[in-house]
Amino acid sequence: MRWLIVIALIIGLAACAQKERPEEIVSKEDKVVAEKEIPNKSGESMNEIEENQEIDSSAFEHRKAMQWGENVDGVNTRMVTDEKMIALTFDACGGPYGNGYDEKLIDFLREEEVPATLFINERWILEHEGLLLELASDPLFQIENHGTAHVPLSVSGQLAWGIEGTASPADVKEEVMGNQVTIKSLTGRAPMLFRSGTAFYDEVAVEMVNELGLEVVNFDILGDAGATYSASQVHQALIEATNGSIALLHMNQPSSGTAEGVRLAVRELREKGYSFVTLEGKALE
Ligand SMILES: [Zn+2]
Repeated sequence: MRWLIVIALIIGLAACAQKERPEEIVSKEDKVVAEKEIPNKSGESMNEIEENQEIDSSAFEHRKAMQWGENVDGVNTRMVTDEKMIALTFDACGGPYGNGYDEKLIDFLREEEVPATLFINERWILEHEGLLLELASDPLFQIENHGTAHVPLSVSGQLAWGIEGTASPADVKEEVMGNQVTIKSLTGRAPMLFRSGTAFYDEVAVEMVNELGLEVVNFDILGDAGATYSASQVHQALIEATNGSIALLHMNQPSSGTAEGVRLAVRELREKGYSFVTLEGKALE
């Protein structure tokens, strides 16, 4: 009987030891992960925290893009609705020729209470931090992400309008997340939508944006053709809008015809029964 107890004890101890071994390994791995996370968690940098939460861009390195343009798979161009609603979207592109502010346009939107979605590039934000905060605190406006360096979004360096796009999945991530972190740290709200500089993409880059938690939004109405249209051309373009249209315009070129064209079109579209909305919470297609 005593022998039996001794044998049972030995078997029991052996079982415990075996059980502990994998637990030890797991706990060691946990320690390694915990040690890796400590610098980011305790660091002050918002960037590090965001980076830590986001996707591993190397997972996209083997992917070859087959499409290139403004309307590749995954790019939204309209709201899903049967109602007479239109979304005006205004880009602020930044950079040497794109850092202007169309005060007349923004004043008009405020006076007439026309809601709008503003896609803002990081270079513009760095020039106009105070203005960004002012716009972000106005419930009429929804602030979204228009990229960091304002380049086409490609996993392989494709060109659009002579501008070289991002050249790798890591570059795509930086182009999206650089400005994402800037906007979130300044306004307290993380953008939900992304539009690249030039509005060009490949489908793998679009998939990456989705993995990063944002939707890609382009347009079905080319409202001011890069702020090159006259007021009457802007007006003509905008009155072609239909239920669910998304119009692309600019808020960074005060000498353009955009503000006046928008003023004419808003009046006419309202007379036709259309209302203006931001893209916040809208189903997109
Ligand atoms: Zn732009």
